[in-house]
Amino acid sequence: MTYEQLVDFLENKMSMSNVYQPLLITALVGAGGMATVRQLAQVFLSQDESQLLYYEKRVKEMPLAVLKRHKVVTSNGKLVSLNARNLTLEQSAHLRLICERRLQSFVQKRRIRIWDYRLLDDDPVSDSLRFRVLKAAGGRCQLCGITAKECPLDVDYIIPRSRGGKTELANLQALCSQCNRSKPSRDDTDFRSWPSPSSDPTCVFCQITILAKVIERNGSVFAIPDENPATPGHLLVIPARHTPDLFSMTERERLDADQLLRVLQARISAEDKYVAGFNVGSNCGDAAGQTVGHAHIHLIPRRRGDITDPRGGIRGALLEKRIYQRDIR
Ligand code: 5GP
Ligand code: ZN
Repeated sequence: MTYEQLVDFLENKMSMSNVYQPLLITALVGAGGMATVRQLAQVFLSQDESQLLYYEKRVKEMPLAVLKRHKVVTSNGKLVSLNARNLTLEQSAHLRLICERRLQSFVQKRRIRIWDYRLLDDDPVSDSLRFRVLKAAGGRCQLCGITAKECPLDVDYIIPRSRGGKTELANLQALCSQCNRSKPSRDDTDFRSWPSPSSDPTCVFCQITILAKVIERNGSVFAIPDENPATPGHLLVIPARHTPDLFSMTERERLDADQLLRVLQARISAEDKYVAGFNVGSNCGDAAGQTVGHAHIHLIPRRRGDITDPRGGIRGALLEKRIYQRDIR
């Protein structure tokens, strides 16, 4: 393959359902064209947010808690520091040597059991069972409705195996990796009973959930830039499930939307110092001006002077009624 053919593959032919292909090619290019499978696995590991979160949790629970108790380290939020300071080069080398020795003798005693090889346990969900679960879910996450094309779907135990949950269709559901990660391990909600994360093939917002356009997701909702922004930065917060308007959104969708609006509001304000206010609103029903029949909430950043007299804001839904006299009763 020539350089030009590789560029063409990367730009036009590589279809991505996860991050692995560009990661692998970046790693190979960086390593001068050749790497061992282990080196590539290490690159994946260093980029795998779920693994990083897992080990962040691990660090905090064990060994940080124990080392803090023994006053060996101090931790302050995200920073951890060794209490023995100002070590000379020799002292550092000696400490590393002792740690290495302790590690070696531990490994010799315990062999392979030192690592959590449960991760490599045979996955008890057979391919045919996985297929049946994904088929029953219509190829979508049963919590947020995202499709398998946009985000890999995991087969999730409703009652976890650790609590006796069985490996059978009745106890399995399809969740995207994001929803699965944010699900607390003790939660055994059966999301299959939730309103079906259906999609309408004729609906413009049902077709839009491709990740390239989605700037942020939060559980059951996502945000995209409005195609015809009323002001620069105008965003739409949209439930992944096809549902007509704000009033038919579930409580969970409204909560997710509310959180996402707040995150986006803070982000826009931090990134654009000219933004001095927002209009937040939803047109419900065509009589109220709704043009896309899939619920969405407009988040419209406002800057001083963007119109001559901004008073009345969303009262401008009825243009002539936007400005009112406060002293008229
Ligand atoms: P509505 O009139 O229903 O309250 O708002 C629909 C909004 O969706 C409009 O602001 C319009 O610009 C936006 N919109 C319509 N079609 C698309 C689309 O295909 N992509 C994006 N990003 N926005 C769209
Ligand atoms: Zn829709």
